[in-house]
Amino acid sequence: MIIQPKVRGFICTNAHPQGCAANVHEQIDYIKSQPAITGGPKKVLVVGASTGYGLASRITAAFGCGASTLGVFFEKPPTEKRTASAGYYNAAAFEAEAHAAGLYARSINGDAFSDEVKARTIEMIREDLGEVDLVIYSLASPRRTDPKTGQLYSSVLKPIGKPYTSRNLNTDKLEIGDITLEPASEEEIASTVKVMGGEDWELWLRALSDAGVLSDNCKTVAYTYIGDKLTRSVYGDATIGKAKEDLDRAARTISASGEADAHVAVLKALVTQSSSAIPVMPLYISLAYKVMKEEGTHEGCIEQLYRLYTEGLYSDNPQLDSDNRYRMDEWELRRETQAKIEALWPQVNNENLFQLTDHRGYQADFLKLFGFGVDGVDYAADTSPLVPADFA
Ligand code: NAD
Repeated sequence: MIIQPKVRGFICTNAHPQGCAANVHEQIDYIKSQPAITGGPKKVLVVGASTGYGLASRITAAFGCGASTLGVFFEKPPTEKRTASAGYYNAAAFEAEAHAAGLYARSINGDAFSDEVKARTIEMIREDLGEVDLVIYSLASPRRTDPKTGQLYSSVLKPIGKPYTSRNLNTDKLEIGDITLEPASEEEIASTVKVMGGEDWELWLRALSDAGVLSDNCKTVAYTYIGDKLTRSVYGDATIGKAKEDLDRAARTISASGEADAHVAVLKALVTQSSSAIPVMPLYISLAYKVMKEEGTHEGCIEQLYRLYTEGLYSDNPQLDSDNRYRMDEWELRRETQAKIEALWPQVNNENLFQLTDHRGYQADFLKLFGFGVDGVDYAADTSPLVPADFA
C-alpha cells in the first residue's frame, strides 16, 4: 500500500515502517557520535520504551552504554490492511539494530499497569538477565485499570480551582484563538493522579524487588515536566501537575524502602504523541522551538537523554534541585529564554504564526513521530505494513 499520513486532530492514525526505522537509526547515530558513557548501566528495563522519551532512554542505554535492554510498551501490531502504531515499528527497528550490534534486546507488548505484564517482565528478567540495574519509568497514558480493584481511571487535562482562559493554537485549522478550560472536579483530580502519579511506578519497583531481580545498586527514574508562567495553569498547577507531584512522593518512598535509588527527572517540552494532546502546549512548544533554535539550545528527546545519563544518572556530580530531581529543563527555563517566549506570546496571530513561531518545525516533528517527512524514505513506494517483530 501507499502509506500517507492520516491526521485526525492531534493524532496521526497510521505510521510508516521505514520512516519509523529511519528515525530510530538517526537517534542511534546521534548516540554513537557522542563520547561513550562511563559507568553506565548494564541491564536496563524501560517501561514505556517505544516512543518519545522512553525510546530515547532505551537507545541511550543500548548504544551509549552497551546495555542489555528489556522494553515494555502498549502498541498496535500491523495487519495486511492497517499499519501498526509508530511505537510498534520503532521497537521492531530498535530490536533489529540492537541485535545486529550484538546487544540483547527483548520486548513485551502489553498493559504495563497490569499485574500480568509485571509478572511476565519478571519472568523474562529471571530467565535472560538475572537482574536489572536501571529501571526507567516513561509511561504516558490517558487511562489505567487498577490491577487490585479492576476499576478504570481516566486522566483529564484541566486547571484546578477556577476556569482558565489562554491563547491556544488549533493545530488542525491553524487558528490562534482563546480556549477556556473548566476546572477539574475533585474526582477528576484524583483519577488523574491514579493514572499519571507514582502509584504504578511504586508497584513496579515493589514487584521487581520482591522477585529479587533488582541489583544492589539499582537506580530508577521517572519523568516529569514543570514549565514556567505560560504553561503553569495547564500543566504545573493543573491536574497533570498534581499527578506529577505524586512522583516526588513515590521517589521518596521507593528510595526509603531500599528497593532502588529513585529520582524524578525534569525534561524539556517537546513534541511527542502525549504532549500534542495537551491544550496550549502546541503553541508554547512552537514558540519555545523558535527561541531555543535561535539561541542554539534546542534539543530533541535523544539529546536530553544523553545529558540525563552523563550529567545526571551516571555523573559523579549530578545537578539535583532541592527536591532531589535531575534537571534537564534548565535551558528551556532560563529567564532570558522564557522572557523572549513571553514577549512573543501575545503577538502571535493567524497571519504571522509561521514567522513568529517555529510551527513548521513543530509540524515536521509531529509527522516524524509517525515516520513521515523523513529524508531518504520513498513515500510514493508500495510498502507492506507488515514488519516482523518478536515481542512477547
Ligand atoms: P509518549 O506518548 O511518546 O510515550 C508513552 C509510552 O508509554 C509509549 O512507549 C507507550 O507505548 C507507553 N504506554 C502507554 N500506555 C501504556 C500501557 N498501558 N502499558 C504499556 N505501555 C504504555 O510520551 P512521552 O512524551 O515520551 O512521555 C513519557 C514521559 O515523559 C511521561 O511521563 C511524560 O509526562 C514525560 N515528559 C514528557 C515531556 C514532553 O514534552 N513530551 C516533557 C517532560 C516529561
